[in-house]
Amino acid sequence: MKNIFILTLVFIIAFSNAYTQQIQTASDIKCGVNPSDNFDEVATYIAKNNKFQSGVSSTSESFDCVQHYVIPVVFHVFADNAETTVPLEQIQSALDIVNRDMNGLNDDYDSVDPYFMDRRGKLNITFALATIDPEGKPTNGITYHPNNAGFGNYLNYDDSVRTYAWDNYKYMNVYIMLDLYNNGITNASGIAWYPNTAMSDNNLARIVYNYSYLGNKGSSFADPNFQSVFTHEFGHWLNLAHTFDGGCEGENDYVDDTPSTLQSAGCEDGTFSCGHPANGDNYMDYTDCYSMFTKGQVARMLDALNYHPTRISLWQIKNLIATGTYQYYKPAVPNSKFTASTNLIEQGESITFTDISCGNPIKWEWTFEGGTPATSKEQNPIILFATPGKFKVSFMATNTEGASNKSIIEIVVIPKTESSVGESKESLDLFVYPNPTSDRIEIRNLEYSSYEVSIFDNLGNVVFSGSVTKGNNAISLENLYSGVYHLRVTSNNGVFYSKVIKK
Ligand SMILES: [Zn+2]
Repeated sequence: MKNIFILTLVFIIAFSNAYTQQIQTASDIKCGVNPSDNFDEVATYIAKNNKFQSGVSSTSESFDCVQHYVIPVVFHVFADNAETTVPLEQIQSALDIVNRDMNGLNDDYDSVDPYFMDRRGKLNITFALATIDPEGKPTNGITYHPNNAGFGNYLNYDDSVRTYAWDNYKYMNVYIMLDLYNNGITNASGIAWYPNTAMSDNNLARIVYNYSYLGNKGSSFADPNFQSVFTHEFGHWLNLAHTFDGGCEGENDYVDDTPSTLQSAGCEDGTFSCGHPANGDNYMDYTDCYSMFTKGQVARMLDALNYHPTRISLWQIKNLIATGTYQYYKPAVPNSKFTASTNLIEQGESITFTDISCGNPIKWEWTFEGGTPATSKEQNPIILFATPGKFKVSFMATNTEGASNKSIIEIVVIPKTESSVGESKESLDLFVYPNPTSDRIEIRNLEYSSYEVSIFDNLGNVVFSGSVTKGNNAISLENLYSGVYHLRVTSNNGVFYSKVIKK
């Protein structure tokens, strides 16, 4: 029999209660997850997504909104008198515990080892029982069946697992039974598989879990800490390895901020393992003080949710609607962002503003100093600017969750030249040198006899007006303050714009 990890009995004695004698044997076998059978795809997957493995902050910052993930779940329960042995309230309590732990809402979240306090991370996720089955019929998210065994095995049970599975790309499938390996052992708690496309293609992706440790109601006799072993299995399902994998050396768990450790090194604050502080509070160790994931682990779970094909389909809005779990979805407050087609125009021209906010806003509020119209509630308004000047554009996006902060940019409107009115303007093929400059610029590539030059400051005021020729193409900027200016060169043949930076 493979991959049954034996945990020391120390913590179980510490948690002794009426069930102690049973639990000493019952609880000492924690999850099975088989790196050698499953890590190949995980390893490939990491290589493909290398940028997401190198740093925690860049990953988390890349998510503009705090996306809320809802995962539709179905439980397939196999037991004698299954509906009374593993009632709905027991299954719901188990999901409640997973949701509590994953979202950092556990009571001991604020009492982890101080050394690891700043490394704590949490997801914004809800695992929810499906209310619509694959045929579109109402369900409570649970299917009940006569007693069965062995779905925790790697081979020989695929046909059985598949028989009961609901589409793996629409539902997370959890199988509940007492004898996970059909070997007569009834005290193994659970087993999970990493994200794996071949498994999901064949409807074999799953967690298999023992109802004796499921939640805190019904037939569960797990102590409070052991109830979070289910959370540990969900961690595997979201691509997390054990923090102790590889021991003190080697690949470890592919997460930067979980120090290498030996299994179950201890729960006392300041415990060391492998020569550095041990994160015994981590859900992905085997300990009696489960209370945290790290930011790096959260980033890795987010990568699985956002980039692994077997996970990304589950939380899409259309799937939440299809599986009857949309009511759990909480849209994130949008992060207002927009683009402008340009931020420098001549008076009388228009600018197109485009909403690029995340969070699916449903309401847009724009104000345009100097613009016509001066306000807009359109998503992507086109605004005319009739007078020269420097103007602020502010924008706020709102959805059902609320409004984000205002986003503001400035645009510059420069005066229109008389000579250019009504003419077709061709771009002149000119350039400015040097730019940035400390004192003077030259307009280069001049071909014609005379060019009119205007330079505007950021308020649209003319700070220079004159002409240049091929033989006299320099303009002194000695009298200007440092800053950004806007140059316009016109001839009968066209117009040329450039920003000029005075150092
Ligand atoms: Zn495990």
